[in-house]
Amino acid sequence: MTDTLAPVKPGRLLINGEAVDSASGKTFTTYNPATEEAITTVASAGAEDVDRAVKAARAAFEGPWGKMKPSDRQRVLFKLGDLILANAEELGRLETMDNGKPIFESKLIDAPMAANCFHYFAGWATKIHGDTLPVNPAFLNYTLREPLGVVGAIIPWNFPMIMVGWKCAPALAAGNCVVLKPAELTPLTALRIGELALEAGLPPGVLNILPGPGSVAGEALVRHPGVDKISFTGSTEIGKHLMKSAADSVKKLTLELGGKSPNIVFADADLDAALRGATTGIFYGKGEVCAAGSRLLVEKSIYDDFVAKLAERAKKMQPADPLDPKTRLGAIVSEKQMNTVLGYVDIGAKEGAKVVAGGARQPVNGKGYFVQATVLADVNNQMRVAQEEIFGPVLAVIPFDGVDDAVRIANDSVFGLAAGVWTNNVKKAHEVARRLQAGTVWINAYNFYDAGMPFGGYKQSGFGRDLGPDCLDDYTQVKSVWVNLE
Ligand code: NAD
Repeated sequence: MTDTLAPVKPGRLLINGEAVDSASGKTFTTYNPATEEAITTVASAGAEDVDRAVKAARAAFEGPWGKMKPSDRQRVLFKLGDLILANAEELGRLETMDNGKPIFESKLIDAPMAANCFHYFAGWATKIHGDTLPVNPAFLNYTLREPLGVVGAIIPWNFPMIMVGWKCAPALAAGNCVVLKPAELTPLTALRIGELALEAGLPPGVLNILPGPGSVAGEALVRHPGVDKISFTGSTEIGKHLMKSAADSVKKLTLELGGKSPNIVFADADLDAALRGATTGIFYGKGEVCAAGSRLLVEKSIYDDFVAKLAERAKKMQPADPLDPKTRLGAIVSEKQMNTVLGYVDIGAKEGAKVVAGGARQPVNGKGYFVQATVLADVNNQMRVAQEEIFGPVLAVIPFDGVDDAVRIANDSVFGLAAGVWTNNVKKAHEVARRLQAGTVWINAYNFYDAGMPFGGYKQSGFGRDLGPDCLDDYTQVKSVWVNLE
């Protein structure tokens, strides 16, 4: 059992370095999905708050942040990384209460990953530069790589703390100011990181945080003429909508959207490792992971045996109290999401899939939106459970016959976010990696991330990149300067 939790203070908006109520005075309640109890209330941002935040961000961009030496920006961002690590226990608990994910993940993986983003991109603050270009001896030609100005960042509920790092660290390192809108279901860690950012020395207005409904605060941010770019992570459906909303002001966009990622197991793989990779590939983060290996493609010659072992492993992964450090399967983020996930189990069964593990709600201590680790066998790739993102602990297992068949099935999806390949044949591994339409391919591994490695989608999984050196292109613009020397 976990110890009694200290009450969480009400959340307020962060605008221009100050914690404030929303202009309308509106608040919403955020709930713990493991206990179904209210955690606290949070101020709910509207269009007026967005306007104030964008103006504060612009003033900071034209003022202290824009004038700061890159080496000073670097120091502040690095310190924020340190503060996130130093507060990992508190951040982990807040994240677990708000999202339902195991504290094992939020404290030991998510908080360090968020810190890793600030540490890594702090280093870039002093290394973003233009070029001198040999064009014509009569001219000096050079480029300036400049920040965009004000970046609006809109993030989902599945990795609230990590997403703050993914979006804010590169945007700030490149010299932009940010207005961040966390998901309405999980605003708490972003607000706490906002406090830590001030403690680290970020000038007021550089990072503003506005929890609130997507249809109100998110929409106002996307439509605001003072915002230069929107960096969005969320569903493909909302991503498509944002492309239309952003068109009026020709805003730059980065879209990190949904996925239905194939995890391919060849008969010549290390099957114990593949089994572990298949399990963590889908059940890590309760399957509420954009890159979850939610379609498991298994070669026919090993299919029956592999599925039997997988079902055995899944049955051992019992949902439990997310605040218990031993728990590996937490609560689904909300009742609505739980019902969506369970609805897909029914759809799969009706389509002819066999439920070989899980498939039901399983409250913990009589409460909570917990869903069992679920394995659907005998799925074919045309079924809805193979084509649509479920975003829960539900694995669809599909048989295949040889390399061409595996690649054909894997690429037969509107999505292209990530993929896994399990084989001990080096040639086959690299050939398949090249042929897969996916932004990330893991070979004999799954679900590895690092601030230094770009992440993003092919096809309807989006465009632009988070992380790695490549994402800095999406947070800067190039100016060509011609100097007449004659
Ligand atoms: P969502 O699209 O419903 O919401 C994402 C964010 O957009 C939230 O902050 C929400 O408030 C906001 N939003 C909603 N409507 C809006 C509007 N009209 N204008 C502006 N903002 C609006 O997604 P979700 O349910 O929070 O998250 C789950 C989805 O996110 C899944 O599809 C998942 O695959 C995707 N995801 C993708 C990645 C990636 O890197 N590709 C990472 C994590 C999650």
